[in-house]
Amino acid sequence: MSIQFQIEATRGSARAGNLITPHGVVETPVFMPVGTLGSVKGVSQDVLEELGVEILLSNTYHLFLRPGVDTVRKMGGLHRFMSWDRAILTDSGGFQVFSLTELRKVSEEGVAFRSHLDGSAHFLSPEKAMEIQIGLGADIIMAFDECTEYPVDGARARDSMELTLRWAERCKKYFEEHKNEVPWRRVPTHSAAMQSLFGIVQGGMDPELRRESASRTIDIGFPGYAIGGLSVGEPRDLTADIVFSTLEHLPSDQPRYLMGVGTPEEIALYAQAGVDMMDCVLPTRAGRHGLLFTSEGRINIKKKEYAEDQGPVDPACGCMVCRRYSRAYLRHLYASGEPLSAVLNSVHNLAFYLDTMHKVRRDLALG
Ligand SMILES: [Zn+2]
Repeated sequence: MSIQFQIEATRGSARAGNLITPHGVVETPVFMPVGTLGSVKGVSQDVLEELGVEILLSNTYHLFLRPGVDTVRKMGGLHRFMSWDRAILTDSGGFQVFSLTELRKVSEEGVAFRSHLDGSAHFLSPEKAMEIQIGLGADIIMAFDECTEYPVDGARARDSMELTLRWAERCKKYFEEHKNEVPWRRVPTHSAAMQSLFGIVQGGMDPELRRESASRTIDIGFPGYAIGGLSVGEPRDLTADIVFSTLEHLPSDQPRYLMGVGTPEEIALYAQAGVDMMDCVLPTRAGRHGLLFTSEGRINIKKKEYAEDQGPVDPACGCMVCRRYSRAYLRHLYASGEPLSAVLNSVHNLAFYLDTMHKVRRDLALG
């Protein structure tokens, strides 16, 4: 059976629930740290566990190029390869491939592209994206979609949406025929013993196309739905408008995943609007650049004013970094280019994101 989703509490559009995956229960709304190459940059798996991470995201495009799906499959799948026994979601590779504007060519069949690493030629189709993701063996895998650039005209947005719908059907067909090929087996002690494929709603920045995309993707039928194609350069209030209007057209009893968004304020806003799953590279990427999210706003740890500041990054944060280290020490690490700087900054930022979701969940549970 595919993934199960149990809603525990609701208020308005927001809901708290449990996503039952083959690798454990994920409490929602959930923030998924991004482990692009099977590694959340700078943060080891034991620290992720200590932070309470229940699911992380990995990128198909990057793992396909390095180390390659055959290697991961031989190592028993991504969970065993990276020694992570909790849930994993992989994206389809579509978003990354479409970011390679100079290096790709789109056809009905799929996308020909050149590796950003060595220029070697590759081809991703809906079937190939499924084959790779089944081989990697994540708990949740994503349909291969076309992500349109911003801005686009109406005809281009419609053509792209239609292509994504045709590709979604091909993804589902291939997945249904090959889903037993995942490199792991779970004793079906609970109902979610299988990998699950989610569909993706596209339609650019047009609410009517988004409605149609949602409706027709639901007709194809998936155990969960994502909102894709956002955070592609559009203004932030337009992102929010499209998220809110698209959410209205998604089934209320199935998980809803908003891809690649956003700041702590945005993830709280979208969780309150009824999004169950989100991912973003921001906490780790910002951490590597010395930008820290706190309950009092953002701080840039490189600033001289922190040179002798004995306080923690965030007095309201109970993470392992804030319990132990001062702003002065973190500033020193950053200024000296110590690798530990990126590690500690990333850990705190991830803790802050996870805590943001916990607060939404706790408020819902308390009614
Ligand atoms: Zn902290």
